[in-house]
Amino acid sequence: SFENVGFIGLGNMGSRMANNLLKAGYKLTVHDVNCNVMKKYSDMGVSTKQTPFGVAEASDVLITMLPSSSHVLNVYNGPDGLLQGGGHILRPRLLIDSSTIDPQTSRKLSASVSKCTLKEKKDNWESPVMLDAPVSGGVVAAEAGSLTFMVGGSEDAYLAAKSLLLSMGKNTIFCGGPGNGSVAKICNNLAMAVSMLGVSEALALGQSLGITASTLTNIFNSSSARCWSRAFGAGLVFSRVSYSQELVYFPGVMQGVPSSRNYSGGFASKLMAKDLNLAASSAEEVDQRCPLTFLAKHIFTEICKDGHETEDFSCVFRHYYSGKSE
Ligand code: NAD
Repeated sequence: SFENVGFIGLGNMGSRMANNLLKAGYKLTVHDVNCNVMKKYSDMGVSTKQTPFGVAEASDVLITMLPSSSHVLNVYNGPDGLLQGGGHILRPRLLIDSSTIDPQTSRKLSASVSKCTLKEKKDNWESPVMLDAPVSGGVVAAEAGSLTFMVGGSEDAYLAAKSLLLSMGKNTIFCGGPGNGSVAKICNNLAMAVSMLGVSEALALGQSLGITASTLTNIFNSSSARCWSRAFGAGLVFSRVSYSQELVYFPGVMQGVPSSRNYSGGFASKLMAKDLNLAASSAEEVDQRCPLTFLAKHIFTEICKDGHETEDFSCVFRHYYSGKSE
């Protein structure tokens, strides 16, 4: 059981996760490099610290939710970082990194953390432990407290962290040893990116060969191409309305889908490009054959270069494949 929780990185995801921890009654101490964010929390009566190590000094467990590997390394290994600030003596028993980063970095940090000494030994913890616990669900799930956590590290630490994680999410999955949460996350997003490209490409080809994307989407919905991306990719989404026993489909009226609101408010293409970069460099590191990863990375990098980096990644249908589609 943890009472004092530290949180570093209060951006789109982190701020919502921290708010759910407050709702659940945890005592929070926070840090972010953005002064406006810090002010918002101190105005709310939450304790704020100027450095990551300052947060560590006040916490039994500490969560990071940062943009990428370099930021996480900075927070851990920087001069006032978690591992450097106190000369490798740590108060938190558990460090949880929920950022999406490469598994190699997660593994290196986990090894460094387990070499540190605990300031005070408690509840059978011999040394501090790190878990990589990236999330699936995005901003909407972060707000609703319905994230899925994919967790790598020691299973005992995972079990100890579970109730804390469930105050920010609805689901936790233990993935195995250190780094395996990060592996799960980048592989999930790789599969999602490639399926989005596959659906978009098939719809675009179908249209060019004379079938409407709406007919093809209906077919995917009841055939073996059915997958999560099938409706989102097209920007052609349908709501079912019963008209005297008949099902009629209207384009573009499904609520809450990024393609129905000009690709705003979803999973930004720049985040997908970032995650595909992580998958591609990890694939190279282990010499794994992954041609689709590199192609997907290339396509999403181009989408970003063309100025669509903040649009939901399903915009690939319109900006890469279409031209003819609308
Ligand atoms: P964000 O950019 O909105 O937030 C990051 C926060 O970290 C910012 O407030 C920034 O000021 C702070 N920060 C940066 N460097 C710092 C440092 N050195 N010390 C302290 N604070 C620092 O990013 P986000 O959308 O919240 O995403 C966070 C992570 O979650 C990323 O790894 C992302 O890939 C992952 N993720 C995002 C989503 C999504 O839909 N946004 C979904 C799943 C996973």
